[in-house]
Amino acid sequence: MGNLTRTKTIATIGPACAKLEQLVELIQQGVDVFRLNMAHGTREQQKAALDDVHKASAQTEIPVGVLVDLAGPKIRLGQLLEEPLQCIPGTYLTFVRGDIATQADHLVCGYPTLIDEIQIGDWIMLRDGMVRLSVVEKGNGFAKCLVVDGGTVRSRQGVNLPGVSLSVPALGAVDRDNAIWAAQQAIDFVSLSFVREASEIQQLKRLLAEHRSEALVVAKIEKREALENLDSIIGAADAVMVARGDLGVEIDIEKTPVAQKRIIRACLAAGKPVIVATQMLESMHDSPQPTRAEVSDVANAILDGADACMLSGETAIGQFPAQAVRMMRKVMLETEKLLRHNHSLEPPSDKDLGIDIESAVIFGAAQIARRLAAKMVVIATSNGKAALLKSKQRDFIPTIALTDRTSALRRMCLFWGVTPFLGTDIQQSVYLRGLIRRWALQDKSFHAGDRVVIVIDSEVLPDIHDIVMVVDIDKPHA
Ligand code: PEP
Repeated sequence: MGNLTRTKTIATIGPACAKLEQLVELIQQGVDVFRLNMAHGTREQQKAALDDVHKASAQTEIPVGVLVDLAGPKIRLGQLLEEPLQCIPGTYLTFVRGDIATQADHLVCGYPTLIDEIQIGDWIMLRDGMVRLSVVEKGNGFAKCLVVDGGTVRSRQGVNLPGVSLSVPALGAVDRDNAIWAAQQAIDFVSLSFVREASEIQQLKRLLAEHRSEALVVAKIEKREALENLDSIIGAADAVMVARGDLGVEIDIEKTPVAQKRIIRACLAAGKPVIVATQMLESMHDSPQPTRAEVSDVANAILDGADACMLSGETAIGQFPAQAVRMMRKVMLETEKLLRHNHSLEPPSDKDLGIDIESAVIFGAAQIARRLAAKMVVIATSNGKAALLKSKQRDFIPTIALTDRTSALRRMCLFWGVTPFLGTDIQQSVYLRGLIRRWALQDKSFHAGDRVVIVIDSEVLPDIHDIVMVVDIDKPHA
């Protein structure tokens, strides 16, 4: 267990890792969760990728989770007349209605009321903020814009309107359809892009529940409104993603590092997993080595308390997907040494989490494990909730979360410091002690007299509350 990272790695699937053997390699290098980005690819491609992830997981015998990322109300350019369009500073481009531009200096987009909802003086950002336009004139069916920061744009690239409150629904028809598909495929995590308020997360949760999904819902924080409503969104969501790509366009880019720290801190206090995403090892798209700044960025996210770091284009379309995952892992292992020695992350307080029996038991079990310098904590859980509570204690005692349900097994892949493991008779202490004994025999770092703390959660034992046990390795009963 010495080589396991506590921080989890999410990799986005795309053409660069679409083959089964590539997925196998990424899992072996350390991917815990794969992201299917529903903004790209067809349903058939997503399904094929999902099937291959399951095959790769079976082949490696390593559990992995799958995150379906719903595009949300992302606005994209429609079809341009010329490809690519050169946007030259000081010249003008005009947004008109429709899906297909008929003049070279016309822009169209998939959001029909854009022209009505923007005002003179608003900024319109294209291609993740690389091209910046200022609205200078509005008329019947058009909005004329001055190109302030130039560059090339292509059809279907993103359009951001920082500071404009859009009336577009959070969960459009395509997102609903994709969420239902995710439910039918027993997907483990569903994320919603461009969340503005908690009710949007509740809406997605209701839809998933109607389709009997157990997926954890991830709120992507990438809008100014989401930062304004941060606490209620974190309260409604099961996990949160700092989606720095769009966040860095929707708010001033120089504000994103502080926003990231604020989001992580709020998630730690609320006991919710938090993912830091986008451009973490960006230069590894076309270089086998990252920049110093990227390595520092990953390390700082870990030190801030991120549960997971996400790779996007690096694994989806980059030239070095396996190297990017390996690098992520190396930075995690090195950085976590500092976390381990400094104990710099505070677990959530009772005030933040409230007092329920399960939190109290896990808190107590973690304390017992620390006090006894236990070799390992084993949590028998059927839904994974106890494993999440343990994860949020942020200690470095190796923690195995044993479950008899594959859905919980895959969900726990996101939890910091938790190694998910599939078992059978997890309610029986004889079975648990037998397993621990076998692990201890296989793992040379175990010695006679080492102690293991076991928690069996109340979901496993419906008639009583959680049980905590301490077993000694190499004692007759272990
Ligand atoms: C982001 O914007 O940072 C993000 C993760 O979302 P996407 O990759 O869909 O742009």
